[in-house]
Amino acid sequence: DSLFEKFEALPPDALFAIKARCDADARPQKVDLGIGAYRDNNGKPWVLPSVKMSELQYSQDPSHNHEYQPIAGNAVLGEDAAKILLGVDLYEKDKTVSTQTLSGTGALHVAAQLIYKGDPTREVYLSNPTWANHRNIFESSHLQLKTYPYWKEDTKTLDIDGWLKTIEAAKKGSVFVLHACAHNPTGMDPTPEEWEQVLDAMAKYHHIALFDSAYQGFASGDLDRDAKAIRLGHAKLSKQSPIIICQSFSKNLGLYGERIGCLHIVNPTSASKANIISQLSTLTRSEYSNPPAYGADIASRILSQHELRDQWYIDMKTMSSRIYKMRVELRNHLVALKTPGNWDHIEKQCGMFSFTGLTPEMVERLETKHAVYMAKNGRASVAGLNTSNVEYVAKSIDEVVH
Ligand code: PLP
Repeated sequence: DSLFEKFEALPPDALFAIKARCDADARPQKVDLGIGAYRDNNGKPWVLPSVKMSELQYSQDPSHNHEYQPIAGNAVLGEDAAKILLGVDLYEKDKTVSTQTLSGTGALHVAAQLIYKGDPTREVYLSNPTWANHRNIFESSHLQLKTYPYWKEDTKTLDIDGWLKTIEAAKKGSVFVLHACAHNPTGMDPTPEEWEQVLDAMAKYHHIALFDSAYQGFASGDLDRDAKAIRLGHAKLSKQSPIIICQSFSKNLGLYGERIGCLHIVNPTSASKANIISQLSTLTRSEYSNPPAYGADIASRILSQHELRDQWYIDMKTMSSRIYKMRVELRNHLVALKTPGNWDHIEKQCGMFSFTGLTPEMVERLETKHAVYMAKNGRASVAGLNTSNVEYVAKSIDEVVH
């Protein structure tokens, strides 16, 4: 039978391909600045101390088992997860639908499916540039995709005028996918004033905000500060339309492979809340039946117990401050080397990534000549830098820029 005979090979996922090439590279000096995963100062994956505490507690808890979770997952996690996004003051249980998902990607996927169910012609706007998987996820749900300008290459600044014009011109009720903080790939977030402008314009033209929150606590080390845009969006938009929030615990809890996240729909009309829940559960039941229990339990203990939560706050500071230190060091080395160009943006950008401004040719030479791996668009995962390799990376950049 020729069922699969017509298949063509598709290009491999660019980021996972970089990881495979780097893993296979025998050069001892190699540096992986590709995939956005935190590394400690020895270049090793880091299990957060708060997660270790939670795992220990779990292993000593005689009541634990490996039963199925409900379709919507761990309800305690869902509620606590919504509270860290909205803050306890804004959170209203009867106005929030929360469902546990297969991390941030799964939350986006379920959100896309739900939007399509609500209106298959609804237009969805992604920032240009954005995380490459956004396009894949929304396209696979057959939604109409458009982009809004975000980044001005020449000045390495936010294209606020272009963004506002697009909001004005978009069809009423369009969905705008907004990076809640630590924009991927640029590392450049709007200022509080710019968020005001964007969200005011979205309110004026009755658009819907879909916040992608994959880096809360990673950008500044502070959960509340990194949720400011979401809370402002709630203040400005939730009276007229529901707010959709896709939340990942991959980065801020370092639970990448456990696939822990949530989808929240905030302020649906009271008439529609139960219907949304039923649509969501029918959707997820056929896709994955119910989400992972182990990581949800680990995350939930951390969110709900003071001692673990306090340790988590320290852990987020540890990660965000080490990344910031690496930004400063990389920039300082480039300045000391008199590498042509201005490198201030490396320090100013926030979160996991720096949009270095290196061209695809320079990135290719970094890989082939120096064994320094990063995404072709010049995005470097700053978490891959450490005190042993940052000078080598700066010298390598210096060589390819010259
Ligand atoms: N959204 C953005 C912008 C991301 O960068 C990522 C991860 O890199 C995600 C969502 C989702 O990641 P995960 O599915 O691991 O939670």
